[in-house]
Amino acid sequence: MNQLQMKTIALVENELVIRTALVAFLLPLNPTNDEIMEIKTICAEAVVNAIVHAYPQEKGNITVHITTDNRRVEIVIQDEGIGMSDIENKRASFVTTKSDQEHSGMGFTIMETFSDMMKVESALNEGTTVTLVRYLHDIQ
Ligand code: ADP
Ligand code: MG
Repeated sequence: MNQLQMKTIALVENELVIRTALVAFLLPLNPTNDEIMEIKTICAEAVVNAIVHAYPQEKGNITVHITTDNRRVEIVIQDEGIGMSDIENKRASFVTTKSDQEHSGMGFTIMETFSDMMKVESALNEGTTVTLVRYLHDIQ
C-alpha cells in the first residue's frame, strides 16, 4: 500500500506536474507502457476537466489522491468548483458544455474505457469528485 496526495491551483500548467508525478509514483510497480499511457490519459482527462470546467471565474484547488494496493491503482480527482447537474448525461459521449474544437465531449468516455471503475460525484456549487480505479497486469 502506498499513497500520494497533491493539492494545487486549477491552472493549465499544473496538469503536466500531476501527470509526471503520477508516472513517477507508479514506475516501481513495473507497469507496461500501455498501462502507463492509459492511466496517464484517464488522470489527465479528469484533471483537465477540473481546470477547464470547474472554475469559470476564480481558480480554486484541485486535489489528486493516488492510492496503490498490490496491483490496484485508485486515483481520486477532486475540485471545489461549480459542479454539474445531470451527471448521467454529462458522462455520455459527445456531450459537452464547451462546444469549441478542443472539447469533443469524449473525456468521460475515455476515462470509462481505460479504467476498470469510474465514479463521478458532483453537487452544484460544491464541486466534483471523480474516482478512477485501474488494475495493473499480474506479476508472477
Ligand atoms: P469535454 O471536457 O470535452 O466537454 P467531458 O466528457 O470531459 O467532455 O465532460 C463532459 C461535460 O461534463 C463537460 O462539458 C462539463 O459540462 C462537465 N464536467 C466535467 N467535469 C467537470 C467538472 N470537474 N466540473 C464541472 N463540470 C464538469
Ligand atoms: Mg473533458
